[in-house]
Amino acid sequence: MQPDIKSVTAGEQNEALVEIEREMQRIASPLPEVQVGEFSPPRMFTPHRIRPAEARALFLEALGKEPQLLSKGVTPERAVENVRPVFVPRWLISGDISGKWSATGIETESWEVDCPDCLGSGKVGTGTLRRDCPTCWGSGKEKQTKKSKRPESGEAAAVINESLDNNGSGISLELDLDRSSEPLPIPEADLNSAHFRCIRPTTIYHSAAADTLKNRLATAIEEQAKSTLGKYSRIDGFQFEGETIKSQSAVAVWLYPAYLCSFEGIGAQQFAACDAVTGKISFPKSTSQPATSGKAAEAGKGGEMGRAATSAQTAQAALSASASQGTQQATPASHAPAGTSSRLTIIAVVILLILAGAGWYLWKGHAANAAPDHAPASSSSSAPVKASEKP
Ligand SMILES: [Zn+2]
Repeated sequence: MQPDIKSVTAGEQNEALVEIEREMQRIASPLPEVQVGEFSPPRMFTPHRIRPAEARALFLEALGKEPQLLSKGVTPERAVENVRPVFVPRWLISGDISGKWSATGIETESWEVDCPDCLGSGKVGTGTLRRDCPTCWGSGKEKQTKKSKRPESGEAAAVINESLDNNGSGISLELDLDRSSEPLPIPEADLNSAHFRCIRPTTIYHSAAADTLKNRLATAIEEQAKSTLGKYSRIDGFQFEGETIKSQSAVAVWLYPAYLCSFEGIGAQQFAACDAVTGKISFPKSTSQPATSGKAAEAGKGGEMGRAATSAQTAQAALSASASQGTQQATPASHAPAGTSSRLTIIAVVILLILAGAGWYLWKGHAANAAPDHAPASSSSSAPVKASEKP
């Protein structure tokens, strides 16, 4: 069933919003939410274009095709009883930046000449004292290099007009993020309504999104400037002329419309999301693995406090993560710790596997063609491998 995406009149939109509010009142949210008024302005939203009844029909159809997702005895009809309209928080970010830069490009030229000590023969001395030339190690050649510095300068400009994930619910809600129609300001009257709520964000602070935006803009013009310097073997003293940098940026809250269907799945509570603009249904991963869902729930209470204390850091990490997904740009320094540590973990695991494989191979070799007193040697050689498991 294809949802009919049509433009709506102000009257229809208002009617739709009233219906959404009524549904939000009627059905409890399966995920933690906050009141939209907690965000400071500007606050924008995209209205639900798919109506609740239509969303239920879409979920019903999608779940009917994925019966394995449902726990025994749960019918798609029952699963869609609690379909609830939600708003998923994002940041709208837009900015442009331009500036003049300068740098010194280092060009390295190298070539070979005859060795001046042996005149290219590679040998020195006569008779029995004749030997390889110590200057050129007998090659007869001498390498010459010349470095030349060339001043470079230029102008770079970049524009960013995107959105960032700000969903702190712990569930990845895959939405289509249709931006064919501009988001609208949230009506003041609705901001005061206790029912106009959105899924818990990673942060309510604009500054977190603004920092990410600034990093991205800076990275974008730097990449653009440096792309012209590829011919050099080295670049020295690259810098932007501070006084020439013109930058404008804006960050706004953006509430994206969706429907959530929460149902009992195999071993865990599952969620399906319906993009309320396009009608696309996605089945995000459950909050956690079935085995650890109990623990996660227990940790929830204590975690709430911890989350509040570190919300700024979490926001940075989350926003940075989504930033690096969105672009292939070099990540600013603040991204490094998380990325580096996970890369190190992967490297460590690979090394461990190689060492384990080598150890096994050696041990097998010893076991096959040597006396049993080799066994302690091989077990001691595997000891450092285990020790290195800890870091
Ligand atoms: Zn020589």
